[in-house]
Amino acid sequence: MSGTARGAIFEQAGQPFRFAELPLPSVLEPGQVLVALSLATICGSDLHTHAGRRQEPVPCILGHEGVGRVVAAGPGREAWLGQRVTWSSADACGHCSSCIDWELPQKCDRVFKYGHAQLGAGSGLHGTYATHIVLRPGTHLVRVPDLIPDAVAASANCSLATMANVTEQLPSQCRVAVVQGAGLLGLHGCALLRAAGVERVIVVDPEEARLARVPDFGGVVAAVSADLPSKSVDVVIEAAGVPGIVGEGLRLLRPGGHYLFAGMVHPDSALTITGEQIIRGCVAVRGFHNYAPRHLNRAMAFLETSALPWASLVSLPLPLSCLEEGFALASTRRWARVAISFDEA
Ligand SMILES: [Zn+2]
Ligand SMILES: [Zn+2]
Repeated sequence: MSGTARGAIFEQAGQPFRFAELPLPSVLEPGQVLVALSLATICGSDLHTHAGRRQEPVPCILGHEGVGRVVAAGPGREAWLGQRVTWSSADACGHCSSCIDWELPQKCDRVFKYGHAQLGAGSGLHGTYATHIVLRPGTHLVRVPDLIPDAVAASANCSLATMANVTEQLPSQCRVAVVQGAGLLGLHGCALLRAAGVERVIVVDPEEARLARVPDFGGVVAAVSADLPSKSVDVVIEAAGVPGIVGEGLRLLRPGGHYLFAGMVHPDSALTITGEQIIRGCVAVRGFHNYAPRHLNRAMAFLETSALPWASLVSLPLPLSCLEEGFALASTRRWARVAISFDEA
């Protein structure tokens, strides 16, 4: 292999991306694949890093959501050559207790997360804001069916796969659910709950514009959950990242209900609930961070079998050279995701 990739290098918050040519690896190691990106999407976590609210090792290429075609494959992965794919956002070793015994490869002792690695690590091509990404041997690949557009497939390896994990095990007798938050995570959760047979999924969000999208994905809208009766809900999904709403969610849960936390991925998340509320309610509270390979498979199968207007939530793609503008647009929250394309690069 020869040639170069073009990447947007993040050096620190407040500084514009630096565009650079990076050499493609001359040879791929066993299990590695080289993917030429066709589309990437800007995730909320990237916005946090870009704004300095979250620290990452720098310099680095940000971005973990993407779709592309395998253009080179190391030994053992030759069958993937030419395939249109997305991939698990974390690479795992396959040997440690998290990987083997606990079914939590995303918590692997040697976990490697795309879009979060310093440029000096390996090829440096480990983020999706570049024309190419090198995927490691412990990264799960999934083929993207032709009928799923890039704009829909790109975020499947983050929000949708995480929600496939969250909704994998629901309480028996699960008829009514509340989803707190109508961002992409909440909408993915809503659609997956409906597909799992939950009759009524109420999505709560203070922003009218975000709530307007909910009916398209099978949910019922509520501006505030305070209007809902206590102990009326089988499952509550926290997808808002706001600790102040957890007491309200607990109030809504029926005895034995499940409270599934997925949004509060930040330290500013101290809760003011009591142990007694959990005990007397006989409720299960569980946290979900990322996902295992089977959840990504399930996410892709879900996209293939359901016809929902996910593409309407994604902006028209901006070229990689306009990544700075893409971040500015993403921070307006006009779109659930802003897309980045690589045609001109
Ligand atoms: Zn993401
Ligand atoms: Zn491991």
